[in-house]
Amino acid sequence: MSEKTIFKRIIDHEIPADIVYEDDRVIAFRDNNPQAPTHVLVIPKKEIASLDALTDEDQALLGHLWLAIRRIAGDLGLTGGYRVTVNCGPDAGQSVDHLHFHLLAGRKMSWPPG
Ligand code: 5GP
Repeated sequence: MSEKTIFKRIIDHEIPADIVYEDDRVIAFRDNNPQAPTHVLVIPKKEIASLDALTDEDQALLGHLWLAIRRIAGDLGLTGGYRVTVNCGPDAGQSVDHLHFHLLAGRKMSWPPG
């Protein structure tokens, strides 16, 4: 079996993380190299390598993830707005092979992203 990703180790509570939300299908924790005052990673507990690896089976899970993101944004009081970003593949800079949504807030964001 291939080696666990760092995120799978966080899901399994093998390594510490600053967890802000968890349920049976999703876990969210603060990024350890934050790019904004609030930078949370929201990930499915199911091992999915990237956005590109999603299948029709994951439809309900994806809906659940987006609703979890909305809930976390509410819980964290992100009333000024927030950005959700998914990096998929090398050109986008994906560095961990486990699907993750970056939830960024707390400063003005520029557009387009770099
Ligand atoms: P990507 O570059 O793949 O879109 O995002 C991966 C993110 O995971 C990066 O923002 C990086 O800082 C974060 N990250 C990598 N390893 C760890 C870790 O062990 N703990 C936490 N909390 N974040 C991590």
